Amino acid sequence: MEKQKIMSIGSHADDVEVGTGGTLAKFYELGYVIVYVMSTNNMSGGTQELQPDGTVKRWVENNVDMMARRKRECTDAAALLGTEPIHLDHPQRHCRGADLETIELRYGCARPESVSDDVPTIVTAYEDKASRQRLVDLIMEHDPACIFTHGLCSGNIEHIATCLLVTKCYWDAVEEGYKGGLLYWREDYTAFGDRNTQWDTYVDISDYLDRKMELLGKHACQMPTAHLPDHGHRLRPLKWGVACGCKAAEVFTWVSHDRRPDLDATVCTTSPLLAELIQHTR
Ligand SMILES: [Zn+2]
Repeated sequence: MEKQKIMSIGSHADDVEVGTGGTLAKFYELGYVIVYVMSTNNMSGGTQELQPDGTVKRWVENNVDMMARRKRECTDAAALLGTEPIHLDHPQRHCRGADLETIELRYGCARPESVSDDVPTIVTAYEDKASRQRLVDLIMEHDPACIFTHGLCSGNIEHIATCLLVTKCYWDAVEEGYKGGLLYWREDYTAFGDRNTQWDTYVDISDYLDRKMELLGKHACQMPTAHLPDHGHRLRPLKWGVACGCKAAEVFTWVSHDRRPDLDATVCTTSPLLAELIQHTR
């Protein structure tokens, strides 16, 4: 039997692990193939490095170096999941230029060195037909059991834009015959109040929290202290574990369930991921 796949789509190097690191590690071990997708080109963001004395040094890099660094880290993390990242390479909305000046991609601005001229920024990618078809084709090609991506309750516009792009492409793929489900991972922004506390289902990652942190640790320029026992991304799944009745959990909201008409107990026994997501749905 052909191996089942899980597709996880994040905006920036480390987002896939923040949202689904434990889930991917768990089901990779159970034999799933992981399809790891990055929507942006990762040319922005600061760099951090843990110093021998325990302090964290912070600096910024130009878009060319930053993109190379973050993609390198992304490759290392994906390798732990037996896969290679797929980069959609939509430019981020800003970055640093050669002299570390801030460049915001807007009308009349010169194109940064690392940006190709035929791909819209992530902010408007969801409106671009060619960009959408590219992701639809990817979904149809891999036919994952389900797709995970950012939720809408995010304080980061590129997360929201990725959510829009993935959601529109999901429905386009459904039109083309895709039968898998779509879930949003819970964003960790509290600005949306009660809306932000909602979740429908979870994956028990109690035995995979260390693996999640190991994956996050590969993104050293963003997570230089991922090895520490009190790291926020270790504490968060433990907090959700309390809500879910297990030690550690990653929580999700359903956008659309799997739409295979024969989705019953038989399918659940052959699809441990769908079985867990369905059994944990409240
Ligand atoms: Zn992000």
